[in-house]
Amino acid sequence: KLSARLQQISDQLPEGCTFADIGSDHAMLPVASVFSGRARSAIAGEVNEGPYESAQRQVMESGLQRKVSVRKGNGLEVLKRNEVDVITIAGMGGALIVSILSAGADKLAGVQRLILQPNVGEDLVRRWLLEHRWYLSAEQILEEDGKIYEILTADWRDDAQELNQDLYEERVINPSTELRLTRERLIEMGPRLTQQPQDVFFAKWHSEVEKLHKVYGQIAKSDLESSKSKAAEMNIHIRELEEVL
Ligand code: SAM
Repeated sequence: KLSARLQQISDQLPEGCTFADIGSDHAMLPVASVFSGRARSAIAGEVNEGPYESAQRQVMESGLQRKVSVRKGNGLEVLKRNEVDVITIAGMGGALIVSILSAGADKLAGVQRLILQPNVGEDLVRRWLLEHRWYLSAEQILEEDGKIYEILTADWRDDAQELNQDLYEERVINPSTELRLTRERLIEMGPRLTQQPQDVFFAKWHSEVEKLHKVYGQIAKSDLESSKSKAAEMNIHIRELEEVL
């Protein structure tokens, strides 16, 4: 049985797709998604020996060797061109996810959907998707075992740029105060997650603001010019976030 986080990722797979799970570790996602019939077949990619072996073991035990292939290598280098419809990358930092996608750009041709679950640095992933014309078709946020996770789904479409344009357009969220969500704030907090914010969304941002307050408190004590300007910048950032909350 999959964790709630991995189950939600599996639910984002188009029925009957072939997908690659990069940084698959135990290969739980490919095995469960093929076993349930959601995916036709899958590739589990791993760069490290330990997780690679554990992926192989999992696939052997499931008896799905003909449908789930386990490959060792860095990022998308384990893939041939046009081999998969979907790529999932979950459980790593946003910076690493972006570097894997950038390094493997030639393998993205023909891929219809990316399902990405950064542990931190969601803004880096949204910015990359935006810059590379992937349409952010869904965003989810969930809490499991005291941790909050975001899942970003992006589709390759001819009209991605126009759709993203609308999605990331600055919006007024409080007509009486003229409070606006700028494009930068939408990249940070999620253009869809901010549409109908749930309790976990507020929980995440209350805790982020608390962390920023602490850092601000440290920086504000310093007399250095560079610290002063940094503190002023942070102050604006914190105020903007607080307005949303
Ligand atoms: N995707 C699984 C999940 O979400 O439960 C496992 C996440 S685990 C924390 C991250 C995995 O990514 C590790 O097993 C690590 O070896 C692998 N990894 C890190 N960098 C990688 C890269 N460049 N290419 C392939 N795998 C990588």
